[in-house]
Amino acid sequence: MSEPAPAVQSPRGESEADVIVVGAGPAGSTTAFYLAQAGLDVLLLEKTRFPREKVCGDGLTPRAVKQLIAMGIDVDAPGWIKNRGLRVIGGGMKIELPWPELADYPEYGLVRTRYDFDEILANNAVRGGARMLQGVNVTGPILDERSGHIVGVTAKRDGEPTTFRAKLVIAADGNSSRLSISMGLNKRDDRPMGVAVRTYYTSPRHEDDYLESWLELWDDERLLPGYGWVFGVGDGTSNVGLGLLNTSAAFQNIDYRDLLRRWTKNMPAEWGYVEENMTGPIRGAALPMAFNRQPHYTRGLLLVGDAGGMINPFNGEGIAYAMESGCLAAQIVAQALARRTPAQRERALLTYPRVVKDTYGGYYTLGRIFVKAIGNPELMKFATRHGVPHPTLMRFVLKLLANLTDRRGDASDRIINALSKMTPAA
Ligand SMILES: Cc1cc2nc3c(=O)[nH]c(=O)nc-3n(C[C@H](O)[C@H](O)[C@H](O)COP(=O)(O)OP(=O)(O)OC[C@H]3O[C@@H](n4cnc5c(N)ncnc54)[C@H](O)[C@@H]3O)c2cc1C
Repeated sequence: MSEPAPAVQSPRGESEADVIVVGAGPAGSTTAFYLAQAGLDVLLLEKTRFPREKVCGDGLTPRAVKQLIAMGIDVDAPGWIKNRGLRVIGGGMKIELPWPELADYPEYGLVRTRYDFDEILANNAVRGGARMLQGVNVTGPILDERSGHIVGVTAKRDGEPTTFRAKLVIAADGNSSRLSISMGLNKRDDRPMGVAVRTYYTSPRHEDDYLESWLELWDDERLLPGYGWVFGVGDGTSNVGLGLLNTSAAFQNIDYRDLLRRWTKNMPAEWGYVEENMTGPIRGAALPMAFNRQPHYTRGLLLVGDAGGMINPFNGEGIAYAMESGCLAAQIVAQALARRTPAQRERALLTYPRVVKDTYGGYYTLGRIFVKAIGNPELMKFATRHGVPHPTLMRFVLKLLANLTDRRGDASDRIINALSKMTPAA
């Protein structure tokens, strides 16, 4: 666990700031960190209190590691479990794929439970100059009557109603993003959605230098679109879970917890993935993908991370995108708030949705095509059976699925980059 950061004093009253960030998950804490670094007075409001559990696979790819390093987080400190790549199990085979060697990303991933990962990031934001208030449940926007812009939020602080005011508000409140909904930004039904469940088991496999991914999840005779994972947490437990996509007929009426139990039942007994070794219940949550909530800026509100549906549809990874979008949003907000007139400010803020689309839009559209394709069990079966045995192909697939390429990289990087660029961002 990280040292608690010293409290930052506000130049104004406690309930006023330049920017309010709602939610101190990876997206909110990263946004708050970069905003504070840019010299802005930032209020980070979090409804829970740290440390707290968060349902997740706890897996960090080199994309996420890059973001942690950029914020000065010491990932060599105890508690960060490094991994060298992805072990893929499918088509009757097992293949270990090291993370690609790239100029733009480190060559290792990490595992760290969200129990203290989120606290480390939140403390880092406070150390960077943000003010954080925990136990503050934001209940709605305060709107300027004339412009309809959000100029603050209503909240319950330890149960007591209160208000906070700012020039801009960031919705970093995760998948359900009540704040976005109250500003009229609902989920889009034409985007893929996932559901994932996980639990922890005490296991001799708790130390593993590969993240492990099982491509074949069977519901009796049906092959399901999604995958299972086994990530060694290094503390005596493994994080074991599975995620499924809504592109199959099975999506609505599946008992995910039961599926997890049935899947692990067929694993070797010595791994210990049995009920008695569970250290907590099986918990689950939704995976909002491929920009399922838009626009990412409207009337004083910017959306980052899961609130903006930014999970990668290829692999279900969301933490890297939460941190990256937080960084992008902070850069744009810092520029906007330095403009002289409201019109100039608005023009700068309206670049955020465009920048986010330019960065991920084409790639996410490809992801939507992929997700639709694997919703067909026959195609999924064919791809697993004929893909996994080919290491060169699988190395390409790893780069594509984990979105790990150099801008000016090798042939496979250039193919992936060109495909993402050619595909319309939507
Ligand atoms: C089972 C499962 C496994 C996953 N595995 C992985 C994985 O291995 N790797 C990966 O990269 N991604 C994974 N993901 C996705 C990842 O968890 C999310 O993409 C990531 O947490 C998004 O970060 P965020 O900051 O946008 O939102 P969140 O992490 O959801 O944070 C939102 C924060 O806002 C707070 N909040 C919410 N409402 C309010 C309110 N009204 N007022 C104040 N605060 C509020 C919440 O308490 C929370 O702290 C997984 C998801 C699931 C469900």
